[in-house]
Amino acid sequence: MRRLPVFFVLDCSESMVGENLRKMEQGLQSIVTALRGDPHALETVYLSVIAFAGVARTIVPLIELMDFYPPRLPLGGGTSLGAALDTLMHEIDRQVVRTTADAKGDWKPIVFLMTDGHPTDDPQAAIDRWRQTHARAAQLVAVGMGSQTDFSALARLTDQVLLFEDSRPGDFKRLIDWVSASVVARSQRLGEPNELSLTKSFDERVLSLVKDAPTTHADDNCVVLVGRCQKHRRPYLIKYEREERALSTVEFNLPLSSYQLAGCYPLDESYFDWSDPRTSSLKVNTAELMGAPGCPHCGNATAFAVCGCGKLLCLNGPGEAICPWCEKTVAFAPGASDAGGFDVGRSQG
Ligand SMILES: [Zn+2]
Ligand SMILES: [Zn+2]
Repeated sequence: MRRLPVFFVLDCSESMVGENLRKMEQGLQSIVTALRGDPHALETVYLSVIAFAGVARTIVPLIELMDFYPPRLPLGGGTSLGAALDTLMHEIDRQVVRTTADAKGDWKPIVFLMTDGHPTDDPQAAIDRWRQTHARAAQLVAVGMGSQTDFSALARLTDQVLLFEDSRPGDFKRLIDWVSASVVARSQRLGEPNELSLTKSFDERVLSLVKDAPTTHADDNCVVLVGRCQKHRRPYLIKYEREERALSTVEFNLPLSSYQLAGCYPLDESYFDWSDPRTSSLKVNTAELMGAPGCPHCGNATAFAVCGCGKLLCLNGPGEAICPWCEKTVAFAPGASDAGGFDVGRSQG
């Protein structure tokens, strides 16, 4: 039987922390439910999930619809688009049966690439290879999750680039419904000479076709910092989002930008497996960061204490603490942390 392979290549970098990642997991569940409800899809569709952050890995190898369970998505530092494409090409080469002179192979695979970040590796070699060896044998739709997406790399990869903006309640569900409907439509029209354009049937208030690709600047829109709980030693992630505002009076108008606390989320150790080790060398001045959260693991008053080793730990007040990163005993004096800011290691999503 000829299969219709569908690959989801999902950005699981830090900018996806919290709600977004959960929504994506639930979205996969909804897609599977919708596809199982259609007899054509049920018969032909096979699914695979590739996740990428600082590294890329196949988390669900191509599998029949009935046997597919939506995976728990990982989270890591970095957005290795090049590595994600290499993994995708490897999976297609390994899993998809090509048509030969003697036998019909699988149907042309559909790939949904969803990313909201900026590549932290150089994806050009992988993009060139995709264009040369795989682009004609697969249908790749790139969905930029939000207007901060770097569309320049996506536009070099495929002509089918969409912008998704999650601006109203229910928009994410509309995106997921569109993905399901596209796959169902393809499965119903297999073998027809004219390939169905996936980027025609969407709700234009939710998805729009990106024609010229604006280049946005590196990940200045959010700052993420990784710390460890002093008591439980488990990691957490603090996320700040850029906020532009103007301080204006009758006399002057001063544009200001700062980073506002967006949340603090517990992590598990797999975060480090999915992160690109090179990304820990960036620095950010804490004077630009507004708000300090409590520890999500133990409830300590601040998750924002900095050890001499440069790493963050949680703290309940002045006194001695053992750094869960370097194991040294550090003394924290009262009020030491608000004297004009200090530099801490910054990660990138
Ligand atoms: Zn703690
Ligand atoms: Zn330390």
